[in-house]
Amino acid sequence: MRIKQQMGITFNLDKCLGCQTCTIACKNVWTNREGAEYMFWNNVETKPGAGYPKEWENQNKYRGGWKQNSEPGADAPKLNQASKFWEMISLFYNPVLPQMDDYYGKGPFTFTYEDLHSEEPTKYSQPVARPKSQITGEEDIELTYGVNWEDNGAGTHEEGTGKLDYNFSDMSDEARKALLKFENSFMMYLPRICNHCLNPACVGSCPSGANYKREEDGVVLIDQDRCRGWRYCVSGCPYKKTYYNWRTGKSEKCILCFPRIETGQPPMCFQACVGRIRYLGPLLYDLDRVAEVANTKDEKQLVEKHREIILNPFDPEVIAEAKKQGISDQWLDACRRSPVYKMFVEWEIALPLHPEFRTLPSLFYIPPESPVATALPNDRGTLDMVDGGTVLPNLKEFRIPIEYLARLLGGGNTEVVERSLLRQLALREFRRQERVEGRTDTSILEAVGLTESQARHMHRLLSLAHFHERFVIATARSEDTDNAPYLERGFTGFDLMSPSEGTGGQSRRTEFHGKKMGVGS
Ligand code: SF4
Ligand code: SF4
Ligand code: SF4
Repeated sequence: MRIKQQMGITFNLDKCLGCQTCTIACKNVWTNREGAEYMFWNNVETKPGAGYPKEWENQNKYRGGWKQNSEPGADAPKLNQASKFWEMISLFYNPVLPQMDDYYGKGPFTFTYEDLHSEEPTKYSQPVARPKSQITGEEDIELTYGVNWEDNGAGTHEEGTGKLDYNFSDMSDEARKALLKFENSFMMYLPRICNHCLNPACVGSCPSGANYKREEDGVVLIDQDRCRGWRYCVSGCPYKKTYYNWRTGKSEKCILCFPRIETGQPPMCFQACVGRIRYLGPLLYDLDRVAEVANTKDEKQLVEKHREIILNPFDPEVIAEAKKQGISDQWLDACRRSPVYKMFVEWEIALPLHPEFRTLPSLFYIPPESPVATALPNDRGTLDMVDGGTVLPNLKEFRIPIEYLARLLGGGNTEVVERSLLRQLALREFRRQERVEGRTDTSILEAVGLTESQARHMHRLLSLAHFHERFVIATARSEDTDNAPYLERGFTGFDLMSPSEGTGGQSRRTEFHGKKMGVGS
């Protein structure tokens, strides 16, 4: 067992407001420069919707991520884009790269905001801000697509881009059309950053060895010195979370704000989040089992298998082995306080996005609750009774279909989504009884497999948690690693982007599938 350290993340979708404060925080700090106009290392998209870039979830179109390798003796999955033939034909033209049309239609745009306060005061009409290209400066350009194109559900109907949402792919055309009708419509927000995966397809795809997972906290980075601009990481990442910079000729991605993490601060988008939906906490995992778990035959088992390789930081054997392998007491203590460990492994309420891409993300989502779609009858029609006379709504009646959430967060496995939703609902009912009826009855918790102390901790973290409870950050100490803290070396965001300085190029790299894997290997 080789124990590795990983910064884990949880986003609680039940609380996201779609306000985009996180997006602006990241944009202003990291991608507010030439060549990065279209980049959104953090984006929040409305679901159902085609997303950013358009249809990113559809790997029949983009061939990103990994596929199960069923060849005899195979101990690791294969890249979706890996084959000698593919390597040869895509060397100078890669047909599965997203085009600008998939990101921004006619190109990234802004608006002529200056017109709002500089127009002649004698005009009778209200001043308007017109669309303007961020690249050429041309005004009045046609807007055909953009980031969060289906904002607040606009355009998710059958005639719009809603039908392109890949999460309808398990449903018949009739079922999808019915769901997109106005009276049945539903929506939710999906904030996305790089998942800092345990089995990153961007790393596996890069022929230059520029993409890597750093040893001290598992953050996935692109070494700007080594990047040759092949863009295999862009097509390899199934989440489309690496972007090509047309000005520098290199690829870039979310860096989990590692200069902040190294000084004990949460990333910008986490700190700025208005809904307080974001949690950060360290995890330990077994590197020796990553490839095997990613190659699990049945994609519906991937969530449970993924949980198995996250190690229990309370287990004395794990603690002893971790110490033997050089993991500090400070990191182990932080793992025991990690909200991400609680939510993903212990309470099983958080789930990885599209586990079937087999990258084993380190970002987990708590699925959103939604109102029941029909009026509750007097008999048991839409309610499931549990012992003690308490009630939980029938999840089949939820406005957001369970099958949709299972395609998004469970690899098609409805059970893992139902368990998460039932536990959240049970907690809500338990607290309602306490606050409104003045009685404490744990039967509803027992019915969904939660103890009272787990429920109280869950309530604390989901509803009331302070800053230090949401963000448990184990900073890398210079004596633990070859990698001296960047701030001590005068590190700045600009150094990061400069081809000469590199992106933490001196940082130790976590081994990958026991060897370096390039396209076609
Ligand atoms: Fe790589 Fe991030 Fe994509 Fe995972 S989500 S494959 S770590 S770029
Ligand atoms: Fe941007 Fe930092 Fe958030 Fe990544 S963690 S999306 S770099 S603000
Ligand atoms: Fe959602 Fe938080 Fe981003 Fe607002 S800042 S859109 S609540 S993730």
